[in-house]
Amino acid sequence: MYTQLVSRLLFPLHESLKGHTSTALRDSLDQSQWLSADDIADLQLHNLRKFLKRIGQQVPWYRQLYSELGFEPDKLSSVNDLQILPLMDKSLMRSQQDLLAADDAGPLSRFNTGGSSGEPLQFWVGKARKSHDIAAKWRATKWWDVDIGDRELVVWGSPIELGKQDKIKLLRDRIFRSQLLPAFEMSETHVLEYVAKIRRYKPKMLFGYPSALALIGSYAKRHDIRLDNIGIKVVFVTSERLYDNQKNIIEEVFGCSCANGYGGRDAGFIAHQCPAGGLHISAEDLVVEIIDPEGNPLPLGEMGEVVITHMATHEYPFVRYRTGDLARLSKQSCSCGRGLPLLESLEGRTTDFLIARDGTVLHALSLIYILRDLDCVKEFKIVQETVQQIHLQLVVDDRYNAALEQQIKQGFRQRLGDVEVLIKQLTQLPREPSGKFRYVTSKLDVSWS
Ligand SMILES: [Zn+2]
Repeated sequence: MYTQLVSRLLFPLHESLKGHTSTALRDSLDQSQWLSADDIADLQLHNLRKFLKRIGQQVPWYRQLYSELGFEPDKLSSVNDLQILPLMDKSLMRSQQDLLAADDAGPLSRFNTGGSSGEPLQFWVGKARKSHDIAAKWRATKWWDVDIGDRELVVWGSPIELGKQDKIKLLRDRIFRSQLLPAFEMSETHVLEYVAKIRRYKPKMLFGYPSALALIGSYAKRHDIRLDNIGIKVVFVTSERLYDNQKNIIEEVFGCSCANGYGGRDAGFIAHQCPAGGLHISAEDLVVEIIDPEGNPLPLGEMGEVVITHMATHEYPFVRYRTGDLARLSKQSCSCGRGLPLLESLEGRTTDFLIARDGTVLHALSLIYILRDLDCVKEFKIVQETVQQIHLQLVVDDRYNAALEQQIKQGFRQRLGDVEVLIKQLTQLPREPSGKFRYVTSKLDVSWS
């Protein structure tokens, strides 16, 4: 009853007051997911033409580009024609950021991301895109019989988001029954408090980083505390690669399926897993391309870098945006009957834990955020050598100075305790042999069980 009140009345009201169209969008996504694969491809092409036409008129950077290329969105005959437009990476986006906001954009919110490559990016998000991302997540949780208004615990934690936990937000979260467990301080005491909270709160869904949820699961198991008998329907994980050992411990301890959701703050909600196992792309609003290291598009079934075009971003476009993540587009269709295309073999970004001097297990993002907000830091790599020593490699511009260096060291020590922070400036950071960049590595062992 309460869930229906929230899902049908309170949340839609809240969204329309914010100027979001997520309720109508979700209704339309609920319908279109059952179209045939061909009909979804037609709808996608139609939406792509409309989106590209709009940014060609309203976004200065694309206006200029189209005229240089002689590009006419009306003549787009398939999504492959997107290849006429250049790939967009973080450095290009950073250098052109003033030309990327649409002339007709409504109010935009600023976002930051460390991204999978560890290069920080600042970008802006409009209401259309927020509405899409909410609607896409809402549709996917409904696949698991979880609706907005059902009790949800979110294991998450950007310090910025935590800072916004003012009274209104707390009240809103209470009404919508979504509560936050901060994922940064994963000491045994904290994790056991989280386990107790999960037992008390009896959420229908858990949502968050697989590493953090697997850690919670492994502590509960070690202390023989059951979490499989309180009615959790699904554990949705996102933002990091989901490893098999994490999936196993999550499913065993929480007594439900662990569903993967692929997306990021920058790229948006890209793909979600359904109960039949398919990782469905939100293709009505997203085009996913897979490219080789030289930037050439790869055929279905081949592994490469994920590039996305998000068609709800006409106010601040993400067109052929390189995510740095590796995956392949599937040739298969899903047995659930949805016509949405599938992604597979997702080698998403990896985020590790670090161990503080007092033994506290910290989410690596807690250090990443310190660097992410500094404009002069172009790239970084953090290596925890021992519990006393951290190596930090930086690529910086000329705004970097001794005071900022002190600020970074202090920030690290606040999180890790009294550690030695050795900073080395480089012109370029080395990549792993796979081409994948791990921006945080701990040489210490944080075991899962
Ligand atoms: Zn499916």
